[in-house]
Amino acid sequence: RPEFVFSGRSNVGKSSLINKLCNRKNLARVSATPGKTATINFYRVDNVYFVDLPGYGYAKVSNAERQRWDDLINSYFEAERHLTILVQLLDSRHAPSADDRQMLEYLRYHRIPFVAALTKGDKLKKSQQAAALAEFESLLAEYDCRKVFLTSAENGQGVEELRSYFASCLLESEA
Ligand code: GDP
Repeated sequence: RPEFVFSGRSNVGKSSLINKLCNRKNLARVSATPGKTATINFYRVDNVYFVDLPGYGYAKVSNAERQRWDDLINSYFEAERHLTILVQLLDSRHAPSADDRQMLEYLRYHRIPFVAALTKGDKLKKSQQAAALAEFESLLAEYDCRKVFLTSAENGQGVEELRSYFASCLLESEA
């Protein structure tokens, strides 16, 4: 089955956006305090899978845990045959962190097709939104990002656009 993959720093709003995209409350677990379980979760949504990669960027992780995360991610992408598109989540309010950049470089290096979802757009004033979008678009073009969506799991902004984008990816892959 086609897979839509979600990647991002812990606490970026990944679980919230996944739930919003599938109109579910608790498909992905939303946590106020970042959990530690590094596993890849597969959620069956109609005829596709949403693949929830473990969040990265915890302040305090041992080298062993970091290695485990790397191994997990590498093994997923090495085995991957069904990836339709990856959604890289980035907080709309902040410039990408060092570990975000590392992830972006990984995606570019491995030629993994991806779009970006800027999260928590509701926390930006209307006047800041266009500027943030433009800034991210020019930065992310360097990483071969295909499209940038400004989203909010809080008010649903950008969610329908992302859904239609997924649908268009499916049509393209079937053609
Ligand atoms: P994850 O660790 O990336 O899965 O992030 P979560 O979905 O668990 O969200 C982390 C925190 O950010 C939680 O407190 C959420 O309520 C909050 N959050 C997530 N999405 C949004 C959003 O679109 N707007 C606002 N204002 N808060 C959000």
